[in-house]
Amino acid sequence: MNKLAVVAFGGNALLRCDQKGTIDEQEANAYITSNQLLTLIKKDYDLVITHGNGPQVGNILLANSAGAILHGLPDMPIDVSVAYSQGFIGYVIEQQLRNVLNVNNINRDIITVVTQVLVDKDDPAFKNPTKPVGPFYSSEEAERIASETNSVFKADPRGRGFRKVVASPQPLSVFNIKTIEKLARAHEIVIAVGGGGIPVFEVDENKFQGTNAVIDKDLASALLAVGINADEFYILTDVPKACLYYNTLQPTSIDRMSVKEARQYIEEGHFADGSMRPKVKAAVYFTTQTGRDSLITCAELLGSDNEGTRITKS
Ligand code: ADP
Ligand code: MG
Repeated sequence: MNKLAVVAFGGNALLRCDQKGTIDEQEANAYITSNQLLTLIKKDYDLVITHGNGPQVGNILLANSAGAILHGLPDMPIDVSVAYSQGFIGYVIEQQLRNVLNVNNINRDIITVVTQVLVDKDDPAFKNPTKPVGPFYSSEEAERIASETNSVFKADPRGRGFRKVVASPQPLSVFNIKTIEKLARAHEIVIAVGGGGIPVFEVDENKFQGTNAVIDKDLASALLAVGINADEFYILTDVPKACLYYNTLQPTSIDRMSVKEARQYIEEGHFADGSMRPKVKAAVYFTTQTGRDSLITCAELLGSDNEGTRITKS
């Protein structure tokens, strides 16, 4: 049997913060990142790709609110915007990865699975929304929208105005996970849990419903990787390694850490909330559950000897 890898692309793999976000830019980035996956593809890995959607879903929400203001279109909730982003980003990755495979005479199907992820409606995260999404508003506008839509707004720490904040609940299970595993094991390349998945909860036994939340893509990717019994779990981001003493004059990059060390470093506050911490947590979860290593690195280092930060069971 081939080895099965889950590879999580960071938002930067598709859209860098210094870019406008045109389709040309996103296609070019997706082509570069797809090329960097060749190391695994040429070793005949079974492969599931997951990805972030922060910048894209931000733009979708902006377009929504412009449509609502200018044309009176109904506002779309975040679960629907995540679904949009999965289709859009999945399409861009599919096409660019196919182009890369064609150049290399490799013939494998690439399939995007629009993926829902179950969360608990009683998750404590819903009582304390923290994740900023969508456009910036003045305090008056924010107050009005908050009372009209029963949502929460918080001041931007950098003083750019007020922004809606939504909960980031724990992912509990990935819909259609057996099918994702089967496709991957049939050696097709699967793109799934984009943006952490579309958050849905169980209203009652017979009814699921989307909710205004965003799920962390690293945690959702780890849940998927454990659920399909992946052999390897890669989290690709825009830094080559996780560091201790990050944002100080002497950051120390980590080549290797056991899950015990990783937990201790998390406790000590070495990894920033919302960026490196969920990656280390996701790696700890995968490695604890499977006994197999996780790797946090950037796409450029895939297959090189300087491999990034490896998280090991002991
Ligand atoms: P992605 O889109 O790949 O999920 P994030 O911005 O969420 O990217 O996370 C990667 C970022 O985490 C890095 O660019 C870096 O600024 C930040 N970061 C926070 N703490 C650390 C740390 N201890 N070591 C390395 N990077 C860190
Ligand atoms: Mg991130």
